[in-house]
Amino acid sequence: FFLVLEGGDGAGKSTQVEALAEWIRAKGHEVVVTKEPGSTPVGKRLRSILLDVSSSGLSHRAEALLYAADRAEHIATVVRPALERGAVVISDRYVDSSVAYQGAGRDLSPTEIARISRWATEGLVPHLTALLDIAPETARERFTEAPDRLESEPAEFHQRVRSGFLTLAAADPARYLVVDAGQEPEAVTTVIRHRLDQVLPL
Ligand code: C5P
Repeated sequence: FFLVLEGGDGAGKSTQVEALAEWIRAKGHEVVVTKEPGSTPVGKRLRSILLDVSSSGLSHRAEALLYAADRAEHIATVVRPALERGAVVISDRYVDSSVAYQGAGRDLSPTEIARISRWATEGLVPHLTALLDIAPETARERFTEAPDRLESEPAEFHQRVRSGFLTLAAADPARYLVVDAGQEPEAVTTVIRHRLDQVLPL
């Protein structure tokens, strides 16, 4: 079972991933917690290129391809092997982050970005994607560390990213759960657990 958490920066994805992993493990499943970008040795190098302030002049197409390369390696070496042995995989970000950030956020076609990711992942689609939706202004208040290159983007960029995610969710309600991430973290976990109870194999 492949579960993905998506959402803008500061939406609380990593907190939810941990809480859900603990709950699913308690049900007796093997759980693999992972994230993009940067969950493989090559991915870590790609992540440092992508998030370094010195990459601020990186062309948008090159940026999109580096995210796709990170994803290809992640799926081939971490996610598929885990799914094949029957584990539940929870990933913090996946294809829809690229469609939202490199597509809606930048000036690239969301359809083309989705196509590149489809090729990179050989078409692996999550069983459920939980979108943690939050206003970028509210999310910003949650940053604990200095903002990385993307977090320093202007507010309009983060608004476009948010709309990009919501458009994806609206187009595929069967695969998506949109959660108001402005609530307390426990309330967010409860909403996702409720949906998982209906779809997770026991
Ligand atoms: O989720 P995490 O904080 O690890 O992501 C690192 C940074 O990369 C974030 O600032 C996020 O906005 C950005 N990112 C991106 N495009 C993606 C995935 C992440 O711009 N496809």
